[in-house]
Amino acid sequence: MPRPLAAADLVASARAGSPRALARLISAIESGHPGLPEVFAALPPGPGAAHVVGITGAPGAGKSTTTSALIGAWRARGLSVAVLAVDPSSPFTGGALLGDRIRMDEHAADPGVFIRSMAARGHLGGLAAATPQAIRLLAALAYDVILVETVGVGQSEVEIAGAADTTVVLLAPGMGDGIQAAKAGILEIADVFAVNKSDLPGSHRTVREIRQALNLTVRADGTGTRPAIVPISALDGTGIAELVAAIDAHRERAAGTGELAARRARRARAEIEALVLRALGERLAPQITTSAADVAAGRMDPHTAAHAIAEAILARRP
Ligand code: GDP
Repeated sequence: MPRPLAAADLVASARAGSPRALARLISAIESGHPGLPEVFAALPPGPGAAHVVGITGAPGAGKSTTTSALIGAWRARGLSVAVLAVDPSSPFTGGALLGDRIRMDEHAADPGVFIRSMAARGHLGGLAAATPQAIRLLAALAYDVILVETVGVGQSEVEIAGAADTTVVLLAPGMGDGIQAAKAGILEIADVFAVNKSDLPGSHRTVREIRQALNLTVRADGTGTRPAIVPISALDGTGIAELVAAIDAHRERAAGTGELAARRARRARAEIEALVLRALGERLAPQITTSAADVAAGRMDPHTAAHAIAEAILARRP
């Protein structure tokens, strides 16, 4: 049995600004703790006013450096910032990984900044359920900006980053980015392209490649506007103000067209689906185990087994 959660106390402490309480709540979300319903019941109602910004890009493109620069820019405007670094391919969790790879030490002591990594904990759909819940928690705790950074460029990374209000795709010169971007599906999810390392030769070419790739794609991002392409150098801060402006401009457009509300509804939907699947998986584990033995032994085919289980659930309801 997991350690019981003093949900109301933890929420009260987190609202009073305790990073330890907040970290425990996120661990509970990560592990699918049975006390979570109480946590969410104890949170202030309403969606909160946070701007959820996703950032994704290949390893080495400069996500961590850019994240750090963005935190600095938002803090300078007096906004509080929470960063979730999501790593779907890693079983590690709790910040060790983040401490190694994120260059954000300068923000570590700032009470207006919360940084946390989340990893897949071995169960299917774990992060799909955990990430939107963590966002919901941070929004209820009144963070102004929630930055969701995904490590890598696989399908699940793209999905997680793409569920944000505004998705930033980070590229860097010399990585064959135009083509890579098209392949990985990131042209479709980007609201803003940031071309990092513009201090290095070749960044003009990356900008050109992205522009060409975008010209070939018919995009329906809901706002009817092509994504901005912003050259930056995260290391020295060049272009960060322009990147923040592009992120803000996207949110404003998305709010005006109804795209923002649509994305939030999609996020809520994904969250509910993941929770339903998890609850069903837990409740049905014995039947699934029995059927698995039958299927493995050739006594039943998997379709028949799945159908029988689904019918049995439906039959239980009035
Ligand atoms: P991540 O793997 O995407 O998080 O990338 P990092 O932020 O760890 O950066 C990868 C490497 O690129 C590090 O050595 C950074 O110092 C370097 N880097 C990041 N931003 C810039 C930049 O604007 N210009 C240059 N020249 N190097 C950068």
